[in-house]
Amino acid sequence: PVYHQAKFINSAPHVKDAPEDIGLEVAFAGRSNAGKSSAINTLTGQKSLARISKTPGRTQLLNFFSITETTRFVDLPGYGYAKVPLEIKKQWHRMIETYLNNRKTLCGIVLVMDIRHPLTEFDRQMVDWCKQTRLPLHILLTKADKLKFGAAKNTLLAVQKEISGAQVPVTVQLFSALKRQGVDEIHQLLDQWLNF
Ligand code: GDP
Repeated sequence: PVYHQAKFINSAPHVKDAPEDIGLEVAFAGRSNAGKSSAINTLTGQKSLARISKTPGRTQLLNFFSITETTRFVDLPGYGYAKVPLEIKKQWHRMIETYLNNRKTLCGIVLVMDIRHPLTEFDRQMVDWCKQTRLPLHILLTKADKLKFGAAKNTLLAVQKEISGAQVPVTVQLFSALKRQGVDEIHQLLDQWLNF
């Protein structure tokens, strides 16, 4: 798959440091520890493209990866370390908001959730934001290997039910970086978003 060509471009401390806003970009969001880095590494077929070990409080960077010359992924900083000071949280909020509101090439958001803790407050904010801006949203319920198949399926249905009724495409799938479950499914969706 084309995604295996992914290469790190840069880490941007501010939105103004992002690569030129041309082409198509997919953003990955999620609560810290949800499994976002593992998901990015798995779907790009790389061991450590997105760094797995991150220091709380030092996660305020937008990390850009090129797929092809005109397509990119951006790894948004993980949200929700309890120990991060309020001021840092506010900064984080402003940066995400600035990015989401201004990035012309943004064509979809992948929201990564730990299947055992779906739809946190932050997740709901992202869902609402996507509904408002009519941006396609895809939810990865990751660490699906942590639940029995029936329980995973029930969570999938429950999340689907809760987020339905949006004017925009909102899709949900099971995923496991550990078992490489759901990789084809997300590749197919990204192919549509990025016109591959
Ligand atoms: P991030 O903070 O969202 O980038 O989360 P990471 O990708 O660093 O993952 C957080 C923790 O969850 C790590 O200990 C991972 O090994 C673990 N993890 C991530 N994905 C999976 C998965 O699919 N299955 C299982 N069992 N563990 C996972």
